[in-house]
Amino acid sequence: MGEKAELLKKTDKCIRCGTCIAFCPVARASSPVNSRYFASEGFRTLEREKHSAKNSFNCTLCMACVKVCPRGVPVPLVVEYLRSQLGEEELPTNVKQIVDNIQDSGNVHGADREDWLMWTYESDEPVEDRVKVPAEVGYFVGCNSAYSPSAAKIPLAAIKVFRKANVDFTILGPDENCCAAPLLMAGRLGQAKKIIEENVKAFKDLKIKTLVTSCPACFRMWRDVYPKITEVPFKVEHITQFISRLVEGGKIKPESVGDLRVVYQDPCELARGCGIIEEPRRALKSIPGLKLEEYNQCKDEVICCGGGGLLRAYDQETARNAARLKIDEAEKLGVYAIVTSCPSCLQNLLKFQSKIKIMDIAELFAGETSQKEH
Ligand code: SF4
Ligand code: SF4
Repeated sequence: MGEKAELLKKTDKCIRCGTCIAFCPVARASSPVNSRYFASEGFRTLEREKHSAKNSFNCTLCMACVKVCPRGVPVPLVVEYLRSQLGEEELPTNVKQIVDNIQDSGNVHGADREDWLMWTYESDEPVEDRVKVPAEVGYFVGCNSAYSPSAAKIPLAAIKVFRKANVDFTILGPDENCCAAPLLMAGRLGQAKKIIEENVKAFKDLKIKTLVTSCPACFRMWRDVYPKITEVPFKVEHITQFISRLVEGGKIKPESVGDLRVVYQDPCELARGCGIIEEPRRALKSIPGLKLEEYNQCKDEVICCGGGGLLRAYDQETARNAARLKIDEAEKLGVYAIVTSCPSCLQNLLKFQSKIKIMDIAELFAGETSQKEH
């Protein structure tokens, strides 16, 4: 049976109950093209399929719908299929730009490779000496953080944690390629093979034993997708797993943050996609003074902040509305900060002006958080 026939069979099970709607971030942000639409209308006629394909970027690929659906309808697979059916010229303008940028410059922004070190300018200590040196740990910065001032604090904090814990680490510098997750999200994984092989070879040559990423999309690519394309001869960890191990092994001693209440936003790709749920919580709970609150829907039932699946490139307003709902809920919880562990979450949540701070988890272990009374 072909891919489309398989999907048709599965979407036929949809009973239009709307259970998924309550968890779908684009539905919650008032979009009529949402999980139930893709499941129940997406393939009905050729005309419908064309409409669905055109609107298929109205989805963060957060996987909440399939998690809660009583009939197990795999909506994200439908969305990925629809995206893959679009010709290069039919891609939404900003999505096509991202695909072209990765092909031409090796990063989502289309930036000059030499600008890769921009994120290090705020570093207290030189970072260049860590570029392409043999080491135990390879840190994959990710092009979203490397070239975006709004996310540069994420790798800066990670590097501080490595230094505090005396981790022997290396980074690839300007030779680091995008992890290729946006190509997968755009239905163009076929174009990713070369950059994936280059990324793996670069760290293999440095003889690393563990690869660490801060971005959940990079993590999922390295852990779950790369091994289907080429051999990955080292362990792959997300920074939340790595920090949790450092704390539990006594390699870093979390400093007190005073009386600080925070809520943790599970990145969908990390919690639901990769099952990394308890490690960030264990790490956060080890910080003296920190009180961890939870969203109503959290862990593998988390509601997406709107930052994933290329939605931000396609429809900034829907992405921003989804972020607003997360910030509204955090305000009701009365927390000082939303802590997350994903550059896309961080950037999307920062789009909405609020008194709530938006932090990356590594910042709390980098020794920078001053005592805050709240
Ligand atoms: S996809 Fe599942 S949860 Fe959503 S409307 Fe259909 S049956 Fe209900
Ligand atoms: S994957 Fe997420 S955004 Fe996409 S349809 Fe399902 S719930 Fe909505």
